[in-house]
Amino acid sequence: MGIQQVKASVITIGDELLIGQTIDTNSAWMAQELNKIGIWVHRRVAVGDVWDDIWHALQEEERLSQLILITGGLGPTADDITKPLLCHYFGGRMVVDPGALANVKHIFEELLKRPLIERNLKQAEVPDVCRVLQNRRGTAPGMWFEKEGRIFISMPGVPHEMKGMMTYDILPELQERFTLPVIEHRSLLTAGMGESFLAERIADFETQLPSNIKLAYLPSYGMVRLRLTATGRSERLVAELEAEFDMLKSLVQDILVTDHDIPMQEVVGQLLAERGKTIGTAESCTGGYIAHLLTSIPGSSRYFQGSIISYANAIKTDLLGVDPDVIARHGAVSRETAVQMVRGAKASLGTDFVMVTTGIMGPEGGSPEKPVGTVWIGLGYGDAIETHPFHFRFDRQRNTELTAAHGLNALRKFILQHS
Ligand code: AMP
Ligand code: MG
Repeated sequence: MGIQQVKASVITIGDELLIGQTIDTNSAWMAQELNKIGIWVHRRVAVGDVWDDIWHALQEEERLSQLILITGGLGPTADDITKPLLCHYFGGRMVVDPGALANVKHIFEELLKRPLIERNLKQAEVPDVCRVLQNRRGTAPGMWFEKEGRIFISMPGVPHEMKGMMTYDILPELQERFTLPVIEHRSLLTAGMGESFLAERIADFETQLPSNIKLAYLPSYGMVRLRLTATGRSERLVAELEAEFDMLKSLVQDILVTDHDIPMQEVVGQLLAERGKTIGTAESCTGGYIAHLLTSIPGSSRYFQGSIISYANAIKTDLLGVDPDVIARHGAVSRETAVQMVRGAKASLGTDFVMVTTGIMGPEGGSPEKPVGTVWIGLGYGDAIETHPFHFRFDRQRNTELTAAHGLNALRKFILQHS
């Protein structure tokens, strides 16, 4: 059988999504997982807990897509109306599902040790025109409807519950049912060249790509990730993709950070682990954010030792031994202070490498000589000390993120140079 292209839509339901109180992470996750098995999401729609809006969204999406995934609105409270609406939409009537009832009872009586009230029993009711998807992680069952060649799947809004249902039941069933294309991605990360220059450099490469391989640019924090995506089912798909990816790599060799789809902190971690070296940080303006990024990588205990959050000047002087005169003369945000922080961090933490930050993140604290966004990064290894000034010009959060991204990139180069 030939490849089946399945068009999918995602409808997320909940007032909280429309006012931005809850960020719709469900549709992003679902789109990623569907993409892995060869289904493209063409549309994502968010609607409130409003009868007519949900109804219209269903009508619209069933016109466009063969697969419609729905989350939200399945709770036991009055604001959640998805279930009765779906019952009506597909012309069914509500019945108690024995499996869902057993699940609700099990959760209340065995796990929560709380009595069941009428409202909870309602969770076990489903339209008699659906197939029930049992919820292994909560009380609200999922529902699978089919109508005129269209599949509608309703899931709870709670991300953990939705993910369980998708992983164990829905994705395997979709793979079984359709002959889906294989979608393969290869990513690399570059630093030090803007998106438009990069595009100029690889323009010819982009033009010669076969139609089943697409190139995407994903710029962030002064770095650009390039992704090649191949779609098809031929035996040679992976080999073709690898060949194009090798060519792309050779074109960006001088600015290549990694040819894997991993973040900068993992690149740095790998370099340290390969060399058997340790690192610690002394962070002023980033308040431990860089330590957090480094420790967010599993296995980071092999190289990350610890951190001193030297936010106040007193901590810089008392714990890192920064000379108060240096701070008085040059300011806490200066090359001189950064150098002394490096020395102090080396002495206190005893790690092979140290990385320090001191800067003005805003919105207050800037001056004409040192505006908001002025940051010094310091790096140390043995007797070698390197400092880098940065001038970011954004808000507090973005300045912090940029400091971490550029600082980690500077650290990466420093490690490559020194060990
Ligand atoms: P519900 O199924 O409508 O009772 O949703 C339960 C909870 O799941 C809500 O309180 C939200 O916090 C969360 N939630 C609902 N929809 C989403 C979504 N699209 N992305 C992330 N969280 C969600
Ligand atoms: Mg809701």
